[in-house]
Amino acid sequence: MQTPEKQAASRIRILPDKVANQIAAGEVVERPAAVVKELVENSLDAGATRIDVYFEDGGRRLIRVEDDGCGMCPDDVLLALERHATSKLRDAADLNAIRSFGFRGEALPSIASVSRFTLRSRAGGWAEGTEVTVNSGHVSEPRAVGMAGGTRIEVAHLFESVPARRKFLKSDRTESAHIALCCRLLAVAHPGVSFSLTENGRTVFRSPACPGLCERVAEVFGRELAAELRPIETGRPGLRLSGLISRPGQGRATRSELFWYANERPVENRILSGALLEAATGFIPRGRFPAAFLFLDISPEALDVNVHPTKREIRLRDETSVRNFVSAAVLNRMEELAREGSQKLSARTTLPDPAALRPAVLPAPQTRPEANAGKALVPVQPAAGPSPRPSVPAPYQAAAKPAAPPPAAPPARDRRIAGDALPSRWRYLGTAHGNFVLFETPDGLLCLNRTAAQSRVFYEDYLQSLREGHLLTQQLLFTRLFELPPLLADTLERHIDFFRANGFGLESFGGDSFRISSLPAWFEGEGCEDFIKEAVERIAENGMRPDRDAELARDTLARLASAHAARASAPADEMEVLALARRLMSCKNPLADPKGRPTYFELSRGELEKR
Ligand code: ADP
Ligand code: MG
Repeated sequence: MQTPEKQAASRIRILPDKVANQIAAGEVVERPAAVVKELVENSLDAGATRIDVYFEDGGRRLIRVEDDGCGMCPDDVLLALERHATSKLRDAADLNAIRSFGFRGEALPSIASVSRFTLRSRAGGWAEGTEVTVNSGHVSEPRAVGMAGGTRIEVAHLFESVPARRKFLKSDRTESAHIALCCRLLAVAHPGVSFSLTENGRTVFRSPACPGLCERVAEVFGRELAAELRPIETGRPGLRLSGLISRPGQGRATRSELFWYANERPVENRILSGALLEAATGFIPRGRFPAAFLFLDISPEALDVNVHPTKREIRLRDETSVRNFVSAAVLNRMEELAREGSQKLSARTTLPDPAALRPAVLPAPQTRPEANAGKALVPVQPAAGPSPRPSVPAPYQAAAKPAAPPPAAPPARDRRIAGDALPSRWRYLGTAHGNFVLFETPDGLLCLNRTAAQSRVFYEDYLQSLREGHLLTQQLLFTRLFELPPLLADTLERHIDFFRANGFGLESFGGDSFRISSLPAWFEGEGCEDFIKEAVERIAENGMRPDRDAELARDTLARLASAHAARASAPADEMEVLALARRLMSCKNPLADPKGRPTYFELSRGELEKR
């Protein structure tokens, strides 16, 4: 063995506990709200049915959390203050199946190392409780105290001993807001637990045990918000989504009322919020955001919560499949809710006679191909109302030689009922500025945004035709060459089959160039290169895999296509707008175009009188 000439003294030292705790505190306890979060989560882990939080001066002077949970016996009171002491995790394998909030065993010692800390607790079966205090790392002798079963922790003068950290705190008002939000979020996730939050003697909120999520949201976030929300619930083995979400047509000014939970833990995750926002566009007015309290129940193995010490961030092991699941769930629910909404409108408008509602009585729009037989590329129009000139090209075409058999009558019968029944008692009044179509309805005045409506109708028809693989293409007289930036070229190269399957006759032409020889029949006007480029951009941006996420990729294409078609559309006459209105009302979501622009609004007679 070689020994160095001059032996340097060992420079590595094990840190004293106090310092180690303070370092850990820097991560876990970034601000007063983080203390509140750790303490309340401990109370929840302890099975509390009542949790009362009190704080003063933004949490700097005092934070107190009191619960009626299982409590701790005298030995555990001391152990709880040791680093890495936890009752919730035994070995590394448990890490993969965490169901409790805590598991690191760091919170209490960390908090105690940066405050004047008092813990008192009484476990079931013990005649009295135990109290210890920690002051500058010094733990007092435990003493017996009279108290009810449960735990009370007081954290006073937070960060007094760590001026550097204290400097980073914001105003009391900001810190209070963080504490309030944190408590609200935890309260919402546990409606069955009675919860209160008090600041300097003033009640911020107080909510007894609630029968369900909606009541709890009303108590904690206010009735006005709760009234805008509708339940959502869906699942498959190992994955469940439930909660509340803005109903179509509603929305908030910011995205600050959009909350995600994973296994009851409030989390922030880009994938989850992105999937929600994307699926909700088109149902929420443009420029506004959905409000939501969404709970993802996912097997703990599919989730990594141990990414960040405060556990606010999570990592999903299979991001794509979760994102698709969430997107589809939100989209389905929004469509369902929008349909309910439009059926209400239609019921109000037409007073339909029940016999007329039987689907057999109604003509099926797409089962009359003979009307179009012989013509080369004739768009299929909505059922009733002759339509001499389509104002926007319809995406699927009943031509002499369709690429696939003509589609059967649409499966959703209620779509057609609403569609045929609705505008019969609307009276066309005229069109303003080429785009705003006015109708008199039995209830008042309705204004339809023509291009938005066309875009919506096109989008839904187009998606349907893509799903059915029912597409015609047009051969270009001259093939066209175009070039993409290298990264996009690479994306297109990989997914060229997707474009081909959807009517774009594309082939690679060496380097980053491509050649287009045919286009989908619906494509009118110039700009096919830009269209393709934009579609490729979307796919690249979202890391989409059209071969795996077919639905999502088609949706992207349909959104772009509907915007393109609406841009290329011409003004329409009375028959056309009536047909359009009828078709719009039979859409899954008649309320807005795929970009979220409202398709129509209605002024009631009462409102007209008032003005
Ligand atoms: P963790 O929650 O990660 O286990 P903590 O430092 O937050 O670590 O808590 C340490 C231990 O103290 C917990 O595992 C639990 O056994 C006990 N404990 C903390 N707070 C409470 C409480 N309010 N009621 C009962 N036991 C508690
Ligand atoms: Mg804990």
